[in-house]
Amino acid sequence: MNKKGLLLVFSGPSGVGKGTVLKEYLSRHPHTAFSVSATTRAPREGEIHGQHYFFLSQKEFDQLVERKGFLEHAQFAGNCYGTPRKAVEENLEKGIDVVLEIEVQGALQVKEQCPDAVLVFVMPPSFTELSRRLSGRGTEDETTVARRLSNAAREMEAAKRYDYILVNQTVEEAASQLEQIVCAAKHTARYLNKFIEEVEDDAKTCCK
Ligand code: 5GP
Repeated sequence: MNKKGLLLVFSGPSGVGKGTVLKEYLSRHPHTAFSVSATTRAPREGEIHGQHYFFLSQKEFDQLVERKGFLEHAQFAGNCYGTPRKAVEENLEKGIDVVLEIEVQGALQVKEQCPDAVLVFVMPPSFTELSRRLSGRGTEDETTVARRLSNAAREMEAAKRYDYILVNQTVEEAASQLEQIVCAAKHTARYLNKFIEEVEDDAKTCCK
């Protein structure tokens, strides 16, 4: 069977609840690794270095870019974000599935580098609902909310380039749909390519 883990890339506009859906999914699949990103933005209240993000200075971030330490990196709302390459590659090699929660420019970079990655875009049931969720979160001021909403509209234009769309009506339902997506992705002929070859080799031996 295919021993490599599945690389799952999860995106969606701010406020869509993608973090909550992922949390639910990861609680159901504790062996899946969540990739902790690096960022130059300041920590929000309650965020822990190494758990939510690696909070880096601009200089530290730029040095990692130079050393090709990121699988992808991008700017979002005035800050830099990047996926540390090493942990992702090591987990995939060990056969552990890895989830990235990243914005669209980064997701499309990952797809180019790793064509086997499965890209999932989380949509709100409507834009009005997204606006309501984002304003209700209360973690950002009005200007930031407005900027995030206009970013969201732009981000959603990229949804068509993703492999799957997940509409977040309820967290439980969305997490279950994500389980189905992962299951489907692990049954593609492309993902099981090595397994097919093994059976073919076996067939050749048996049919001699
Ligand atoms: P936030 O600042 O709200 O935590 O994240 C802002 C955006 O950056 C979200 O869309 C989030 O998915 C994205 N993001 C988080 N980590 C990364 C990363 O490593 N790379 C990229 N490209 N985007 C990221």
